[in-house]
Parts: sequence; structure tokens; C-alpha cells
Amino acid sequence: MGTGEGRVAVITGASSGIGVATARALAADGYRVALLARRSDRIQALADELGDGAIAIEADVTDRGTIVAAAERVKAEFGGTDVLVNNAGIMLLGPFSSDQQDDYRQMIEVNLIGAITATEVFLDQLRDGGGDLVNISSVAGRTARPGNGVYAATKWGMNGWSESLRQELQPGVRVTVIEPGAVATELPSHITHEQTRQGAEALYGQVTVTAEDIAEVIAFAVNRPRHLTINEILLRPAGQA
Ligand code: NDP
Repeated sequence: MGTGEGRVAVITGASSGIGVATARALAADGYRVALLARRSDRIQALADELGDGAIAIEADVTDRGTIVAAAERVKAEFGGTDVLVNNAGIMLLGPFSSDQQDDYRQMIEVNLIGAITATEVFLDQLRDGGGDLVNISSVAGRTARPGNGVYAATKWGMNGWSESLRQELQPGVRVTVIEPGAVATELPSHITHEQTRQGAEALYGQVTVTAEDIAEVIAFAVNRPRHLTINEILLRPAGQA
């Protein structure tokens, strides 16, 4: 019997990268999984792959109504939520400039307000029986460098909010922040600043840490016995500055 048998995990951003790998890892551990993202074809294909214990729910973390509908569907089909993984995120890097004003707003709405919204919507379900909240932050939530200021601001914001919640929700809901360095996913492909995207894609092409590596860490954290809580995990590719 898997460690997650009888538990339900909701994963935002389950259509690619870390979200897909986390869904696979938790499903393999026996969790039933709800896969949330905007690209419904991708989450449906993943739900088909994972079989009976998986459902695909088209949802946009910037549209609270879709998150409320997702929570209602999870409650109706699975009876509730034990684990919420706030993974949906975008990283629209580039030199700080008015040209990217839309990118800034979008990153804050998805990475920070999106995670806050999903959490406040699912909180009652997480509280009901002992839950886990996993927030996917970043090394950029602990450091900053030229060209990533607003992305870093969303992740620093996530870290501060998570620490507050950790204290507020304990012991019923455990809060875990995961802070990866570079992971080979499609994340840099959405960068709108041409030169920055090319540089980031070239860099990410060299990265050997996979989404599966991160998923394993997430599964490890949520599978710990309830007397233990892993609050924060900072991890980088060996050799990353
Ligand atoms: P991907 O680009 O592969 O995945 C991002 C996911 O977020 C997609 O499934 C996408 O789904 C979803 N998403 C984006 N916007 C929305 C939205 N408005 N509503 C719902 N879902 C949305 O990147 P990663 O897997 O790399 O990133 C996952 C998380 O990990 C992010 O929070 C990222 O910041 C973080 N991270 C990644 C690192 C890396 O190097 N890859 C390093 C550190 C942290 P869809 O477009 O279908 O809605």
C-alpha cells in the first residue's frame, strides 16, 4: 500500500514540468490527484495516463471562479483535499523596463496572488483531517540578481506569506516551501524579452536537474509522519552559483 493511499492531492500547473512530475510521483505513491491548469488537452492526457484516481480540471489561478469550481469538483468526486501543491508559475525575466509592465503584473497575479487564492479556496478542505500545503518558491525567493527582480519579488513574497501561514495553521496543516534552482522545464520558453529568452533557454539546455528530481523531494516532504514537518527545502543543481 502506497504512503498516499486514501489521500488526495491537488496540483496547480499540472500541464508541464514540475507539476506533471509531481502528479506522477504522488499517483505512484497511491494519492488520488486533481490536475489543474489552463491547457486542458495536456492535463486530460495526463489524467488518462494515470488512470482512475486522476481528474483533469481546467482552471486559471488568476480566475478565482475557476478555482472555486475546481474545489467543489474535488470535494464531490474525491471527498476533499489533503495536499495542495501551489506550483503554477511563470518567470518572465528581462531588464527592468516599462516594456515589461504587463509581464510584471502577470507574474504577481499568477505566482503570488494565484497561490494565495488557491490556498484560501482550498483551506477548509486542507484543515479537515490534517493537510499539507506545498508552495513552490525558488532560489529566487532567497537571492536576487539583475533581470529577475519582479520574479524574485513574487518568490520572496511567497516565502514571507508561507512562514506566516506555517505559524498560523500549525499543527493541523503543515506548510512546506520548496526552493529549486534551475530545473529543465519549459519555464524559460515563455520569456517575452527576446535576448533574455535566448540566453535563458541556452542556459536551461545545460541543466541536468529534472522535474522528476523535484517531484521526489515534494513527495518525500508530504509523506513524512504527521509529528514531523519539513518547512523549507532549498536545492540547486550541483555547481550552480
Ligand atoms: P512550466 O512552465 O513547465 O510549468 C508552469 C505551469 O504553470 C504550467 O503547467 C502552466 O500551465 C501553469 N500556469 C501558468 N500560468 C497559469 C495560470 N494562470 N493558471 C494556472 N496554471 C498556470 O515550469 P516549471 O515546471 O519549471 O515551474 C513550476 C513552478 O516551479 C513555478 O512556480 C516556477 O516558478 C517554479 N520554479 C521553477 C524552476 C525552474 O528552473 N524550472 C526553478 C525554481 C522554481 P498552463 O499554461 O497550462 O496553465
